[in-house]
Amino acid sequence: QNHLSSVLGISLDAPQKQAVMTISGPLLILAGAGSGKTRVLTTRALYMLEEQKIDAKSIMLVTFTAKAAREMNERIKANTTLNQVQLNQLLIGTFHSIFYKILLHHDRNRWNSSHLLKWDWQKENYLKQAARELGLDEKEFPFDQALQQIGYWKNTLYTPEDVKPSDSFEETVLSLYKYYEQQKLQHGQFDFDDMLIKCYELLHDNPSILEAYQQRFHYFLIDEFQDINPVQYKLMKLLSSHTKNLCAVGDDDQTIYSFRGSTPSFILSFKDEFPNATIIHLSSNYRSDHHIVSSANAVISKNKQRLPKQMVAQYESSYRPTCFFPYDEEEEATMIVNDIKEKIAEGATPNEFAILYRTHTGGRAIFERFVQSSIPFVIEREQSSFYERKMVRGVLAYLQLSINPDHTAALTELIRPLFLKQSILNDVKALSILHDCSLVEALLFIQGLPSFQISKLKKIVPRISQLKKEKPVTAIQIIEKELGFHDYLKKQGNEGNAIEKGSDDVNDLKVVAKKFSTVSEFLQHTDHMTLTQRALKEQKTYNWSGVQLMTVHRSKGLEYKYVYILGAVDGSLPHDFALESARKGNNEFLEEERRLLYVAMTRAREHLFLSIPSYRRGRKASPSRFLKPLL
Ligand code: ATP
Ligand code: MG
Repeated sequence: QNHLSSVLGISLDAPQKQAVMTISGPLLILAGAGSGKTRVLTTRALYMLEEQKIDAKSIMLVTFTAKAAREMNERIKANTTLNQVQLNQLLIGTFHSIFYKILLHHDRNRWNSSHLLKWDWQKENYLKQAARELGLDEKEFPFDQALQQIGYWKNTLYTPEDVKPSDSFEETVLSLYKYYEQQKLQHGQFDFDDMLIKCYELLHDNPSILEAYQQRFHYFLIDEFQDINPVQYKLMKLLSSHTKNLCAVGDDDQTIYSFRGSTPSFILSFKDEFPNATIIHLSSNYRSDHHIVSSANAVISKNKQRLPKQMVAQYESSYRPTCFFPYDEEEEATMIVNDIKEKIAEGATPNEFAILYRTHTGGRAIFERFVQSSIPFVIEREQSSFYERKMVRGVLAYLQLSINPDHTAALTELIRPLFLKQSILNDVKALSILHDCSLVEALLFIQGLPSFQISKLKKIVPRISQLKKEKPVTAIQIIEKELGFHDYLKKQGNEGNAIEKGSDDVNDLKVVAKKFSTVSEFLQHTDHMTLTQRALKEQKTYNWSGVQLMTVHRSKGLEYKYVYILGAVDGSLPHDFALESARKGNNEFLEEERRLLYVAMTRAREHLFLSIPSYRRGRKASPSRFLKPLL
């Protein structure tokens, strides 16, 4: 055993060592955050390679993110005597990367990435077609929710035939799901979920193919087992059914992907599925300062659905978790960026910081402040600009037309809140030439509109040009209350919850607008941010170095010396929908939100900052109910 630590240069405590050296049979390592689960997994792979001389080819190591896979690869590379060729045989990756490789191996053409439906908008296009055929109102339907529901079904291995819809919304989504699958098949396309589902079908339906993989792979190691979903679980079970050398590590308190079908039930029933399984508990926390550990414990211990766990911190310091109380999101961003600047001036490096938020929109203000600062930062690539959201574009259109009454793109946006038909756009162009006036003024010359629309336009058009004289936030209020935008929001709200989301977006926009004294300065800012975000999105090479800005979901498994949690208020963390469902008597989502906070807090090694703004999205906010045990 000493040999192990001296050869590998990795120190381990007794239960960790036991976990590393238990190579055969099913093994579950169940332990809290920062207890060394991932380290055990990496060391175990090294132990198998270096000490047991197990063929690299026979080991499969599954991580939750590509970043984690890269880190593990580097860790193993740094500690092994194997050469690169041997190491390349070791299969380390996410579920998607591993099973996609297997699919590709069997049919390179069928699964070529040019057939992949990569973006949500591509999938939504199919759903929209289906909606049209069903006669649904395409503008009002929450397609993002539908996609999420479909993803949930797919990951649970429910085909459209298996689904038993529980309400009318699910019934509709089921029809969309059927159509989506048909279209995908017809066009020879596939989506990310199919990478797993089709691979499962391949292995399940072809015993000879399965056998070939079983002959190659003898050892399976899975990180973040608490977030495994049914299709992933079935795949692993199938592959490992001959050797049963399945090692899973996880923490039931960190299940945070249940909306995608993840469920801790596989952790909880491990012993039933594998009666001779070894179960090891780790109880020392090596990551975080003891104040952070005890705060995180205090928070998570309020959950009812959990296995009791011990967490004893190994590090002590005098740093205590700190709360910020900014006025709103903008001040929150300013305070944090200033704080980070100070710490960098004192010698910290940008890589040591992470900023975590509940949802992508929650990161808007801080993103903008970083763009304006000189501190290097990294943000998840797929995030699209806040200013490109539907309602935001709508409001901005009025302002853009106020400055430039010939702004074609803005006019295209404006016809939605004015309830005009797309087809009038051509007329407007012609009318502006005929009457030698601007595009906006040409709206007054449209023929054949009902009289209520004519009088509305007569009122609205002249006021648009005056908006630029107002303060930006006043201008937005005028747009909402006097220029018809509120009616538009209300109309959108009749179906689904679009009114809330939409008015939240408009409120966010007002929070930004408050910082500017003229409409044109404000628009310069929104343009600049949109362009920056688009440029980031299109960047080919990705920069990993800098302050990390990400959602709590993405921070899983990672650790930073300094962690800032944004928006630790009710409505954000816990999210509104969880509060709403708790009011209806269902506490499941609330517990998942609490786990999210637990994950966020336990990312911190030395310094943890919780930001509790007094106002969020233009409304008064109160500190997260989860913080009660701490405040
Ligand atoms: P999470 O649940 O957040 O994924 P984890 O259980 O996977 O956490 P690790 O990331 O493996 O925890 O370990 C947390 C930190 O503690 C790492 O920096 C790791 O290097 C360190 N660590 C783990 N075990 C030991 C040990 N025995 N001695 C010293 N440091 C350790
Ligand atoms: Mg881990």
